[in-house]
Amino acid sequence: MSKDNKKQKSNLISSDTQEDTKQYSSEAQFEYRCRRCGKIYRNPCCSPELANWILIEITMNGSGGRTTKGGKVYLHTTHQCKDGGMGIADLQGYRIVN
Ligand SMILES: [Zn+2]
Repeated sequence: MSKDNKKQKSNLISSDTQEDTKQYSSEAQFEYRCRRCGKIYRNPCCSPELANWILIEITMNGSGGRTTKGGKVYLHTTHQCKDGGMGIADLQGYRIVN
């Protein structure tokens, strides 16, 4: 009497990697706005589904950083303003680009 126990791989890391290299039909881009100069800029991220999870997790944790669902996204980043000064940029959300 022997059970065939399939070894379960921990796919957490590899699935994140796959997520990073996957081609998306649409891509989520996290949007930031500089408090100082008002500049809006976007950081391409991942699939809209993953962006959804990341945004929810950041909102719940209140800080951001590395999320369990992948990707490094922060509530605040710095912005090198055009006049040479530096501002703090806040995460506004994400947009979807096809
Ligand atoms: Zn700025």
